Amino acid sequence: MSHVSDVLDISRYDAGKVSATLEPVNISDLLQDIIDSQSGMASAQETTLDWGWDGPSQHWVFSDGDRLQHILMNLIGNALKFTKRGRVSVTVNWHADQMWIAIEDTGIGIPAELQGHIFEDFVTGNTSYDREVGGSGLGLSIAQRFVSVLKGEISFTSQVGTGTTFRVTFPATLAQAPAPAKAVPQGQIPNTPLRILVVEDNEINRFLVREMLQADGHTVVEAHDGQQGVDLAAAEHFDLILMDISMPVLDGRSATRQIRDGGGACARTRIVALTANALAEERQVFLSDGMDDVLTKPLTKSDLREILAGSGASPPKVSRHIVDLAHNAETKEVLGAEAYLKVLGRFKAEVDQLISWLQQSQSMDRTDIAAEVHKIAGNAALFGAQEMRDALLHIENAAKTGSHEDVEQGIALLPDIWRRSKAALAEI
Ligand code: ADP
Repeated sequence: MSHVSDVLDISRYDAGKVSATLEPVNISDLLQDIIDSQSGMASAQETTLDWGWDGPSQHWVFSDGDRLQHILMNLIGNALKFTKRGRVSVTVNWHADQMWIAIEDTGIGIPAELQGHIFEDFVTGNTSYDREVGGSGLGLSIAQRFVSVLKGEISFTSQVGTGTTFRVTFPATLAQAPAPAKAVPQGQIPNTPLRILVVEDNEINRFLVREMLQADGHTVVEAHDGQQGVDLAAAEHFDLILMDISMPVLDGRSATRQIRDGGGACARTRIVALTANALAEERQVFLSDGMDDVLTKPLTKSDLREILAGSGASPPKVSRHIVDLAHNAETKEVLGAEAYLKVLGRFKAEVDQLISWLQQSQSMDRTDIAAEVHKIAGNAALFGAQEMRDALLHIENAAKTGSHEDVEQGIALLPDIWRRSKAALAEI
């Protein structure tokens, strides 16, 4: 999983899709978290690991916290990997809107012939030590890319047998500590959830519409072509029909005419066309077929809500898509369909295992809980399963700083979120 994630990071960067998201970052907290998470590795290596400010501390600066964390995790992780019974020290210095971070180790050092290549993709040293510790050889190449996202620089000096020092510098202006986040008010659940028939041949569009509607509390029944739509509309009552126009077997215009003329359960139900063509004259044609309104694709949640408001629904609750389709599609593209399914299968098994472990882990060490959920949260992000990721990160935070009840509550919510996430992932 982490190799896949590395390859994705690189392909996103090389496609120009990675840009820095500047926000106030507490450098001290960020470093302390990394040091804490690496302390197990340090004691396994019998190596001391510490960090400190060189000069006055400056906790809050504007930077991209996620990228910075990735870079430092990698450099500190490497320093520990290659240092047995030694010392790894991280020093931070802030001066004139520049941050300097040095990661110094007393490890094996980097041989001169390797020094010119370590930032290249897939390059690992070929010593027995390297083989023993393993690695994809992508760590430093990603770190270097992310440093350039931060508009910074990375360099190192190293001597075999003595140790290595990596230095990262990047611009970082001072920031204020952000105000504590206010609780987001819960949106209202619609008073009158609707039963909606979605007639659409395209699987992704169907998924999108269904997610948006279900998130607002409505029930969705799906038809994959016009004929199925006509059959369902004849047999069952729906409060609203969303009708794609071009579909195999029977197109949306003919289906609408048949529903109107057939005298079935939905002969008088509101039918809204879903179309990529927003031309005014086409709209007229659709209305003359018996449709009541037209929605233009790509659909937005607010368009849908407007239409629903006209169908008697009350303001829907605020919700997010359970799976980020764009992110998921990217992963699929990078992996190819076959490997995607394989890795997805592994991920699912991993989450199932995690959930049953968490359910028995009430009395377990909180650090273990935080570490386990953190790992899986990263994998959830890989598949765009953002609600799952958020829920896991919530448990992680609760395990680090919250009460026992917070942790338990987070764990109790997980199975349902996972069930819906799994269903959504299976539909893509
Ligand atoms: P990986 O992702 O496999 O760790 P990296 O790109 O991070 O690969 O590192 C490439 C190679 O550089 C490593 O295999 C190792 O030989 C060398 N290297 C990196 N950091 C250090 C260090 N602190 N001390 C010694 N060797 C290092």
